[in-house]
Amino acid sequence: MKGLMMQQPLLVSTLLTHAERHHGEREIVSKRVEGDIHRYRYRDLAQRARRMANALAGLGVLSGDRVATLAWNGYRHMELYYAVSGSGAVLHTLNPRLHLDQIVYMIEHAEDRILFFDVDLLPVVQAIAPRLTKPMVYVAMTDRTHVPPCDLPEPVLCYEDLIDACDDDFEWPDLDENDASSLCYTSGTTGNPKGVLYSHRSTVLHTFATALPDALSCSAWDTILPVVPMFHVNAWGLPYVACMVGAKLVFPGPWLKGESLYELIESEGVTMSAGVPTVWQGLLAYVNDHQHSFSSMRRTVIGGAPCPPAMIAEFQEVHCVDVLHAWGMTELSPLGTVCSLKPCQISMPPDERVAIQARQGRAVFGIDMKIVGDDGQEMPWDNASTGELMVRGQWVVDSYFGSAEAPVHRDGWFPTGDIAKIDSDGFMQITDRAKDVIKSGGEWISSIAIENVASQHPDVASAVCIGARHRKWDERPLLLIVKKPGSAVVGDELLAFFEGKVARWARPDAVVFIDSVPLGATGKVLKNRLRDQFQDYFLTA
Ligand code: AMP
Repeated sequence: MKGLMMQQPLLVSTLLTHAERHHGEREIVSKRVEGDIHRYRYRDLAQRARRMANALAGLGVLSGDRVATLAWNGYRHMELYYAVSGSGAVLHTLNPRLHLDQIVYMIEHAEDRILFFDVDLLPVVQAIAPRLTKPMVYVAMTDRTHVPPCDLPEPVLCYEDLIDACDDDFEWPDLDENDASSLCYTSGTTGNPKGVLYSHRSTVLHTFATALPDALSCSAWDTILPVVPMFHVNAWGLPYVACMVGAKLVFPGPWLKGESLYELIESEGVTMSAGVPTVWQGLLAYVNDHQHSFSSMRRTVIGGAPCPPAMIAEFQEVHCVDVLHAWGMTELSPLGTVCSLKPCQISMPPDERVAIQARQGRAVFGIDMKIVGDDGQEMPWDNASTGELMVRGQWVVDSYFGSAEAPVHRDGWFPTGDIAKIDSDGFMQITDRAKDVIKSGGEWISSIAIENVASQHPDVASAVCIGARHRKWDERPLLLIVKKPGSAVVGDELLAFFEGKVARWARPDAVVFIDSVPLGATGKVLKNRLRDQFQDYFLTA
């Protein structure tokens, strides 16, 4: 017997119509590329998104066409999130920090027809344009007075001219909820990037799950500042969540330095933010150097890379900002787990609580996870057994876009390439990315565990541990350290700091001081580059 309930497709456009109807007065504040602050409301967003949808139709964009953006976090980018996906086309967000070869590859592979860009990114657009083999329509995301002289093969359209030329009389089409809504390429360090094609259904379900109290806990009371870029897995879904719950949104544009972020957080009363650990390092350094405090921020979501326990403790104990450590992947839209505590853990002593929060946390409803050994057999949830993390769920990739390869899953589970353990309460902890595990004499050493200890040392600004080749043990851990300014700490002091904290055989053998840590296009540490640089350290030292 079938249920007798309405069949309403889950569509991205419904998030916007909900926000317009129920939260029309709520503000969206953007620090613009032009340098000023722009403010408007959800009702303006909805109206301008409809005008842009008409403009896209006028440009001949059809259902399923790919429309690319090369843009920072801002209100015009948000309009495109809804105008493009809502009208049935596919929003392809490009990361301007990637190597030009990769950007060209992605545009060609996706067969993008239109490229919207922030004007400060014109040099990137000019560098890639001559290499594109298909015609492209270029749109500068600004008004007529700010369109710079452009050296491009085709004339450049102006975003505000397109909006001005269209009215807002537009009905969002009744799409199939399984139609594609947006496209994001993985930022893999080897091989060509792979496209993950999200559907309206997967996006809306992901939005529900992300907003839940034990996930990111978002509501109409929040003012959300997504530092995570809108080109990094849809800013972890926050542009959708904000519409669903009616939160005030604050966009930082390209200004992601500590001082700029802090000023915006304070002036706009931000309650919640989200980003990768390296961004928070900059913010914390600025706040500490200037002896500032946070007057409104209550919590921050940290993910994309392991969050060191020292950072969690500093946010919580010094600044009274709760940390929500989250794990996800482009292939998961991206949210998989969030480390929100259970009631029995709240009264734990702070250091025990922080040790739990340094784990990547519990699966949100909709994501099923398990760990498997080399033989593919499931491993127990005993907080000791480690294996490859496998996931499945409604917003997990099934196959990559435009790939002739079979579905990417194994027996219905997506192999994440992360090595993890899970405790009996279901708290998952990533012990390493499979390729970062240090294999020493047949034993596996977690580089993250070593980095977590090192980053608790008061003289350490950043710590990275890699496996360097070793004649006897195959690989041994080498610790690369960026010191805090003015520190005179020496390597032996740092090695002694591991006494009693990590098993003797798993401690790093040596410390090398480096000036800075190389970061990739999404702010994650480029361990590959450090491995290339230091892989012979123990052979030649
Ligand atoms: P991306 O698809 O570029 O977002 O990268 C996904 C990968 O980032 C995951 O497979 C993990 O290796 C890593 N990652 C994401 N979040 C975390 C986290 N909280 N802790 C450790 N690694 C993470």
